[in-house]
Amino acid sequence: MADLATAIAATRVSDGKLALFWLGGAGFVFRTAAGRTVAIDPYLSDSLDHYYSWKRLPLSPIALPARALQADLVLATHAHEDHLDPETIPDLVAAGQALIAGPGMCTSAMRAWGVPEERMAEINRGERRTLAGFDVAAVLAHHVSPAGAQTPDAVGFVVDLDGIIVYHTGDTLYHPDLQAVRARRPHVLLVCINGQYGNMNPEEAARLTSEIEPAVVIPMHWGLVAENTAEPGAFVRALAATGSRARPVVMLPGDTFISSFAAS
Ligand SMILES: [Zn+2]
Repeated sequence: MADLATAIAATRVSDGKLALFWLGGAGFVFRTAAGRTVAIDPYLSDSLDHYYSWKRLPLSPIALPARALQADLVLATHAHEDHLDPETIPDLVAAGQALIAGPGMCTSAMRAWGVPEERMAEINRGERRTLAGFDVAAVLAHHVSPAGAQTPDAVGFVVDLDGIIVYHTGDTLYHPDLQAVRARRPHVLLVCINGQYGNMNPEEAARLTSEIEPAVVIPMHWGLVAENTAEPGAFVRALAATGSRARPVVMLPGDTFISSFAAS
């Protein structure tokens, strides 16, 4: 990952394939068969250190400078710093052309940061819209901290990336209503496993995976800061115990994964 931005821009995949780049935490970049670039929850700064003194683990250096990420669409699941980063988004807006989209809590935060209206779009839970040419659905995320603090309009995303359906859970506890996404037959599930601060633990993430039955599942929201991580092997073992046919792929921050999927 000497220069992840260059690698992303240079990546070409054929029809029926998708390239995924994990930025650590909940952050992913995708390159599609049509040569388009989408990011979800890019966290490309040290703002968690600045706000909470949560330092990045050595495993998770800043994957690339925000100014180097040229995306067509950036989706944010909610307005916590590791998902809609006040030190990443303004640089993305200044240096690129991406449309930045998320629920109302995200657009109001971006408005306060001075992001121009024409660069942002609001998509709330239950809505399905075409954004920058992509079919995007915002789905339930039940993001409630143990202390009972609600993040009422946190969402997950189901996005059609030139024929590959990706479901990013966002930050969420297990909830039976999350199973509704199964009807979309996602090829790829990106599932949070950190088990703290209102998120599923590895066993709960494995249960949801077995209910969604994607072709590939990638455990995420770990490895970024010591205060909020989990062990991906625990997810892989829990998934095996469910009998799920989903293939677990454990990525490391900065890794690239290219998969091909049979047409559905
Ligand atoms: Zn989070």
